[in-house]
Amino acid sequence: DYVSKKHIGDGRKSLPIYQFKDKLLQMIRDNQVLVIVGETGSGKTTQVPQYLHEAGYTKQGKIICTQPRRVAAMSVAARVAVEMGVKLGHEVGFKIRFEDCTSEKTVVEYMTDGMLLREFSSQPDLKNCSVIMVDEAHERTVSTDIIFSLVKDLARQRSDLKLLISSATLDAEKFSDYFDCAPILEIPGRQYPVDILYKQPVDEILEEAVAATLHIHVTQQPGDILVFLTGQEDIETVEEMLREKVKHYGSKMGELIIHPLFANLPTELQARIFDPIPEKARKVILATNIAETSLTIEGIRYVIDSGLCKLSSYSPRTDMGSLQVTDISKASAMQRAGRAGRTGPGKCIRLYAPDHFQNQMEDNCVPEIQRSDIVSVVLTLKALGINDFKNFDFMDPPSDESMIKALELLYALGALNSKGDLTRIGKLMAEFPLDPKLSRMLIAAEKYGCAEEVMTIAAMLSVDNAIFYSPKNLQAMAENAKKRFEDGDVGDHIALLRVYNSWKETDFSSGWCRENFIQARSMKRARDVRDQLMNLMEKAGIELNSNPNDLDAIKKAIMSGFFPHIGILQGSGSYRILKGLQNVQIHPKSGMARVQPNPRWVVFHELVLTRKEYMRHVSEVKPKWLLEIAPHYYERKELEKFFPRLL
Ligand code: ADP
Ligand code: MG
Repeated sequence: DYVSKKHIGDGRKSLPIYQFKDKLLQMIRDNQVLVIVGETGSGKTTQVPQYLHEAGYTKQGKIICTQPRRVAAMSVAARVAVEMGVKLGHEVGFKIRFEDCTSEKTVVEYMTDGMLLREFSSQPDLKNCSVIMVDEAHERTVSTDIIFSLVKDLARQRSDLKLLISSATLDAEKFSDYFDCAPILEIPGRQYPVDILYKQPVDEILEEAVAATLHIHVTQQPGDILVFLTGQEDIETVEEMLREKVKHYGSKMGELIIHPLFANLPTELQARIFDPIPEKARKVILATNIAETSLTIEGIRYVIDSGLCKLSSYSPRTDMGSLQVTDISKASAMQRAGRAGRTGPGKCIRLYAPDHFQNQMEDNCVPEIQRSDIVSVVLTLKALGINDFKNFDFMDPPSDESMIKALELLYALGALNSKGDLTRIGKLMAEFPLDPKLSRMLIAAEKYGCAEEVMTIAAMLSVDNAIFYSPKNLQAMAENAKKRFEDGDVGDHIALLRVYNSWKETDFSSGWCRENFIQARSMKRARDVRDQLMNLMEKAGIELNSNPNDLDAIKKAIMSGFFPHIGILQGSGSYRILKGLQNVQIHPKSGMARVQPNPRWVVFHELVLTRKEYMRHVSEVKPKWLLEIAPHYYERKELEKFFPRLL
């Protein structure tokens, strides 16, 4: 134990930030707001809160450190607990949506930026907190941007509060300007040279990523590989392809240890990326842009960069948000390459052409607030009592158009009245840590007598694409198992409900999950989320009524939140979104994709844009429900335009 403690202590002292500890503490003493800039891995996230704790700041109140990503909040808290020699959840803890791992004792709290926004609504002066560190500020998520403004304001009211804004990129001036010329502390990085090679893909990008990984593994010096891909689906595909290759050529090459890393990956598996590996083996980590700046993994010498990432995007013109695979920015490409040069000289293989980098990629990513749906933010601000959006101190304001659309939708959802004030329903909606459409659906469920059912569906949707799996050699069986839940073409929402209820009937059996090709881990997560939702519903005074057989009632409740997500059949397999007007298709993995003839009217949970734009989680609905449910959103005229004889 002594050895490991000493080892950790030495490790902490060897981080670049350690040289700046005294200077950092001095600057914090002398200034209320400080901007910290330092390379990924320099020790900002794990060390700064510990320095402040050691310096006694936690005697005045706890230290909060925000992270844009759940994974980072959990993993960093776990690491810091080890470094401090305490149990996670005691002195050090984390808070993420649906999971609170803190206690009375907790003085260093890592939390997602979204959770800090919630803390603001329950306790606007955050009086039990002495330091707020807004970490990964360069990511510029919507929540982080709103927090900037809230903490700036709070700092003016509370002279005892310290604010740290930390970033991995060199856009510190902007942060400093915003915070009334706050001083900047720069931690010089320890960066070795990274050779950048370009390889224009001839094949599909995933095949190229596999080929590049194997090429490095077979021809290059020791050192681990980090591959940047867009999301869980691509990561799992590449993982499978790599395992397949390893099976065939395994004996002819060194051991390759493969780890996926994405936001929905269960914690135990995430932690495995840090496991030491056998001496002769090589580790390859298949990651989303989580690994760009928010998690540091030691020992990476090779980076393979797909040049892509998945971003939420929103167009006020079509009034639709979706997850879209897009080019990363030049700044991201540099960050990704930088990950190869942390422990020695490295190589980065970019699976795109130099010309693409120069001419297609933007210099910096547009802040999320300017490219995504801000309905949730507007609701949160309203709940915080902020009404004057024109004069709200945004670092970069959202467009007027997206603001107006957000207000319109909140009005249609019944969250705002015609004067723009929050209604009783609006206040309830703000209590749920969910997309406002989901919150609305939960609240509506009581009226339709099916709160239990809708709660289950909401929980299942929140773990989405990881429920069903389909092993390559047993695809037909898996497909059949899935079809049993979809029997009667009830739609994906009801199918998810049936999955959950059947699992519940087996007393939550893992064996049952295996037999039905369902991920037990995802189901357990759905159960946890459901428990949390149940607490929230009870707190909100919503009656937990149940009526599993009235499928129309369940669908009406879903539509009460998701009425903006209505597709109308245009002709074989092609749909048009009623309000947004763009053409979309049912996701091939949806049970409704194979229903013939195609349902004419559908409600969908979300849009995903890959090669085509797809509706995911789809159920058939009746158009006349629209007039009952969303009379403010769809005018009769609008519906008649599409189907003159319908009404
Ligand atoms: P920064 O926030 O500046 O990017 P961090 O404080 O996150 O840096 O990381 C500092 C060092 O701590 C990293 O170089 C890494 O080696 C180590 N580290 C961070 N998280 C973990 C973890 N979960 N397990 C092992 N080592 C970790
Ligand atoms: Mg960090």
